[in-house]
Amino acid sequence: MPEMAPPLLTIAAARERVLKAARPLGIERVAIADARGRVLAADLQAAGDVPPFPCSAMDGYAILAGDAGRTLQVVGESRAGIPSSLPISGRNAIRISTGGAVPAGATAVIRQEDVEAHDGTILTRATVGAGENVRGAGEDMRSGETVLRAGTALGAAELGAAVAAGAAELPVARRPRVQVLCTGDELRAPGEPLGPGEIHNSNAPMLDALAAEQGAVVGEPARRLPDDPAATEAGLAAALERADVVIVSGGVSVGPHDHVKPALAVLGVEEVFWRVALQPGKPTWVGRRGDVLVFGLPGNPVSAVVTFALFVRPALAALQGRTEERSLEPEAVLGAAVPQNPDREQAVRVRLERRDGTLVAMPNGPQGSHIVTSLLGADALALVPAGAGELEAGAVVALERLPH
Ligand code: AMP
Ligand code: MG
Repeated sequence: MPEMAPPLLTIAAARERVLKAARPLGIERVAIADARGRVLAADLQAAGDVPPFPCSAMDGYAILAGDAGRTLQVVGESRAGIPSSLPISGRNAIRISTGGAVPAGATAVIRQEDVEAHDGTILTRATVGAGENVRGAGEDMRSGETVLRAGTALGAAELGAAVAAGAAELPVARRPRVQVLCTGDELRAPGEPLGPGEIHNSNAPMLDALAAEQGAVVGEPARRLPDDPAATEAGLAAALERADVVIVSGGVSVGPHDHVKPALAVLGVEEVFWRVALQPGKPTWVGRRGDVLVFGLPGNPVSAVVTFALFVRPALAALQGRTEERSLEPEAVLGAAVPQNPDREQAVRVRLERRDGTLVAMPNGPQGSHIVTSLLGADALALVPAGAGELEAGAVVALERLPH
């Protein structure tokens, strides 16, 4: 009697298994200059108030708050970085620049355009209230306040806030070391002339780039493995020794020249899952050996990118402790009808557009798993549920964003 195949895992269930298998990597401290794109490993508190002292929001004069029509003696200057130690009384003023420390006694800053200045005096032409044009100490950050949370990806704003908070280095997650391997006797290097039956290895640069985009340290550039059991095993064995994540494309199906799964079994890699109810991307195999994760992605270039986006990307994020992990929630409407697959959820390459405040997902041309050009300009994968007919335009779909 033929063996019944187990029901295929849903994308969500497969992803959950991947995330469960991904143990966060260790922590290291890096200088701010090296922290861009890294993931913060501990909450960061402000070392002091920011701004550290009351300072002027304008170029003008530090004075006592009060009415227009006062004549005041200008007794000094407080520039940004060079404060004045002279105190302010009801009869004098100190010239002040934006960012200059507000001198002792002053309760307001009058803008330069609101005074008439002659020979060391000013005549106030406007009424200024207490605190006007003065930035209070700690208005931005209070000493001890948590400014950034562990798990935050560090971009421009986060690095600026960290420096303002007093940090010079930051604890960040170690970057995952990734090794990409591409199986296939048919694969040729970029620009190499093609013999009969041969194609160029387009997965190699795509998978290297996608991994690097997620903060991975990509080992040596993607290596090609011939469709030979011994070579497949040797290539995988070497990658398993030096990487935190091994990504192998092609050769993971059940054809006579698919050697990846048997090789991984010999190498002691345990299965996390095999096959997903996903089109394209059904024959995806994920495993682990100790803390090393192995992703066997289908060889078709679109399938490889789709399964990277849905399974490898979240794993790389989790290894780095990233907390803003996106869940697959409905968030866009389909811009055109899409024929459904009766058994599998589909990952449709889409462009995203805003129309009257609604996010619309427009299918990005032919959707075959070999159509690399369907990835060009695609903003996201729209997940179209399995079904008998077609999913009509206007239906709400979940999105997995694609990097640009
Ligand atoms: P496989 O998963 O090995 O059965 O491959 C499925 C299809 O993807 C075949 O048409 C392969 O030629 C193609 N393919 C496999 N690996 C690559 C690659 N690295 N670049 C481009 N196409 C590939
Ligand atoms: Mg193959």
